[in-house]
Amino acid sequence: MQNSVVSCPKCGSTNIYKNGHDKYGNQQYFCKDCKRTFRLVHSKKTQALLFPLS
Ligand SMILES: [Zn+2]
Repeated sequence: MQNSVVSCPKCGSTNIYKNGHDKYGNQQYFCKDCKRTFRLVHSKKTQALLFPLS
């Protein structure tokens, strides 16, 4: 299993931590630099997509 580094989609920081899951079971992360929560969604494509939450 690949353990890729997740970076913030807003500021590119890797200074983030896991922040639970949303109601769909997607992993959520919190960026300690820009204080934003974002989601890591595993699609059927090869890459994971990052969706910032407002
Ligand atoms: Zn950030």
